[in-house]
Amino acid sequence: MKIGVLACQGDFIEHIKILFHLGVETVEVRLPEDLKGLTGLIIPGGESTTIGKLAVTYNLMEPLRGFSDKKPIWGTCAGMIFLAKEIGMDQPLLGIMDIEVERNAFGRQVDSFKADLYARFLDKGDSKPFPAIFIRAPKLIAAKGKAKVIAKLTDGTAVAAREGKWLVTSFHPELTEDNRFHRYFLGLI
Ligand code: GLN
Repeated sequence: MKIGVLACQGDFIEHIKILFHLGVETVEVRLPEDLKGLTGLIIPGGESTTIGKLAVTYNLMEPLRGFSDKKPIWGTCAGMIFLAKEIGMDQPLLGIMDIEVERNAFGRQVDSFKADLYARFLDKGDSKPFPAIFIRAPKLIAAKGKAKVIAKLTDGTAVAAREGKWLVTSFHPELTEDNRFHRYFLGLI
């Protein structure tokens, strides 16, 4: 197994550290050729406009779409925005997942928060909440077609979705000590 982490901008190092800890070989993806031989790809949190513009500049858009046809991809926060089909704003998007997302919908940087997320599918039997960290996070407004919401906050806000082998989370599992979401993604491979 070899997992790529899109390393245009954002907190790719944090994802790599967790994968390293899990004994998974990783590759920083900055150019189309970096996608060769990967079994999956993570698109980190950061600034979706910057990630999108750099992906265009480095001719990554079509290679990423081709990769996504066959392989699992996980987008966290800005990564979720980048994967969404609908965001109601004009910026470069991979636009593969049938989800509607609203950027910065939880407020500004100072409104960042941590919430206990009860995501039963993460552990068999054990229902320890997942510490979900939201930083100027996008809201998952709707999951359509084959895309399904897989986790909600206690107030009903959808914060994670899956469409086949593609996963999105509006929070940052890479900023916690809890590696269950990373293990869940590896399980999709
Ligand atoms: N607010 C950022 C955006 O709209 C996402 C923030 C994040 O990834 N923590 O791209």
